[in-house]
Amino acid sequence: MTEFFISTPIYYVNDAPHLGHAYSMINADAFARWHRGLGDEVYFLTGTDEHGQKVADSAARNDMSVQAWTDTYAERFKAAWEALRIDYDDFIRTTEERHTKAVQKFLQAIYDRGYIYKGMYRGTYCVSCEAYYTANDAPDGNCPVHKRPLIEMEEENYFFRLSAFQEALIEWYDRDPDAVFPDFRRNEAYSFIKGGLEDISISRTSIDWGIPLPWDERHVCYVWFDALINYVTATGYAEDFERFSRLWRHSHHLIGKDIIRFHCVWWPAMLMAAGLEPPSKLLVHGWLLVKGEKMAKSGGNGVDPIELVGTYGTDAVRYYLLREHALGADGDFSLEALEHRYNVELANNIGNLLSRVTNVVARSLGGVAPAYTGRAIAAERIEPHVARAQDGWNGFATAQALEEVQAMVRLANAVLEERAPWKAADPAEAAEPLGDALEILRLVAVLVAPVLTEASAKILAAIGIDPASVKGSYTEALGVGQYAGGASISKAAPLFPRLEATGA
Ligand SMILES: [Zn+2]
Repeated sequence: MTEFFISTPIYYVNDAPHLGHAYSMINADAFARWHRGLGDEVYFLTGTDEHGQKVADSAARNDMSVQAWTDTYAERFKAAWEALRIDYDDFIRTTEERHTKAVQKFLQAIYDRGYIYKGMYRGTYCVSCEAYYTANDAPDGNCPVHKRPLIEMEEENYFFRLSAFQEALIEWYDRDPDAVFPDFRRNEAYSFIKGGLEDISISRTSIDWGIPLPWDERHVCYVWFDALINYVTATGYAEDFERFSRLWRHSHHLIGKDIIRFHCVWWPAMLMAAGLEPPSKLLVHGWLLVKGEKMAKSGGNGVDPIELVGTYGTDAVRYYLLREHALGADGDFSLEALEHRYNVELANNIGNLLSRVTNVVARSLGGVAPAYTGRAIAAERIEPHVARAQDGWNGFATAQALEEVQAMVRLANAVLEERAPWKAADPAEAAEPLGDALEILRLVAVLVAPVLTEASAKILAAIGIDPASVKGSYTEALGVGQYAGGASISKAAPLFPRLEATGA
C-alpha cells in the first residue's frame, strides 16, 4: 500500500473562509480523493492557525476569551468545508495540547543541536502579517501585502540560525529538482536561497498568546514558526514517531505562492535543524484574482464560497476552480467564466451525453443497456485520453485531467451525432454507438470523481454501476472496454440543468 499525505495551509482564524482558501481546499481534496480512489492510504490534513497578537487583539475587541474566539472561528471554517464537500481526515488547531507538545519537542531538538540563539531584534514589522519586512521587501515602508505602513519594533528574541542551512538547502534543491512544483515556483525559492539567508527571529516576549519556549518560558514561539510545525504534529512526531516517519516520506504540502518563503525555505531548514527530512513535495498554487487583485476578505473583494455553492451547486464550483487554471499560475476568477464552463462543459457536454444515451436506450432498446463493442468508438481512440487524464491527476495537473475528460465526451457526442442511434430502424444498429458511449460515460464518471463528487455517483448509478464498486480500484476501472451491458436503464434526470443568463 502506498501512503499519500497531503496538507493545506492552516488558516488564520481571524479570516472568514473566502474563495482563496476554498481553492486550496478543493485542490487538496481532489488529490486526496484521487489517491483514495487508487487505493492509497490517504491522510488529508487541514486546520486553523490560532496563535498570535492579531487573534488576541480581535478577541479582546469582541469581549471574548481568546479560546472562545478561536472556537467560533474554527467552526466557521469547518462549516465552509462541509458545504464544499471537503473530505479531510484531520483538522488540527494550533491551540490543541498535541500541538503544544510537538512544538516544544521540535524546538528543543533544534535548540539542543545548536541552531537557536538569543539576540536583539530591531526591524520594521507588519502587525497584520505578524512579520518583519526588510527594506528590500518593502522599499516604500509599506507592507507589500497590506499596503499599510510598517512599524519599528525592537525586542529580545531567540533566533533560528537559518543562515547555517543555505548550502544544505541548495544541495536539497539540486538533488531533488521535483520537490517544488511547478518549476517556476521552485526557481523563485531557489534564487531566494542563492541570494543569501538571514537568521530569523522565532520568539516574542511582548505577547503571551502562543506556545512558550521549553527552555525559557518568558518567550512564546513566533506564530509562523509554530504554525509550520503543525504538519509534523498531526503526523505523530511527538506521539507516534513510527507513524510520523511512514507518512513523512509521502508528504505533500499544498500552499499558495504568498507563503513560498515560509514553506520552501524556512520549513525544510527547520526540519533539517531538527534532524528530520524535508517534505517530499511542495505544491504551489497561484492566486485567484478578482479584477487583478488577490482574493482576500481584507481586500474587500472576497467572494463567499458558500454563496457560490448556493447558486451553482458544489460540483460546479469545484469543477470551475480546478478546470479553469493550471495549478501554479495566477488566474482570474469571474462568474461569467464559471457560467460558461457550467453551460458548455457540464450541462451541454457531460449532462447532455448522459441524458441522450439513457433516453435512447430507454426508448429504443427497451431500457436494457448494450455492452461496449468498440465498433463505434475503438478502444485506441479512447485510451490516450484516459492515459493523459490519469497523468494529469497523478501529476497535479487538474486542468489537463479535466480537458481530457471533455475530449472523451466530445468524441462520444460526435459519434452519436454521426450514427444517430435515435433514428436507427434496427435496434442492433442503435446498440453499437450507445454501448460505446456508455463505456465513455463509465470512464468519465471515474475520472471526474475527485471533482464532481455528486455527478460522478449519479452517472454510475444511471448506467447501472454501483459507485462503491470502483472505489479503491481506479487503475483497474480505467481499463477501456469493460462496460458489460445488461443493466436496466431509464432516462436520467438532468445532471446540470442549464443556467439561464443572469447578466453576471
Ligand atoms: Zn502585512
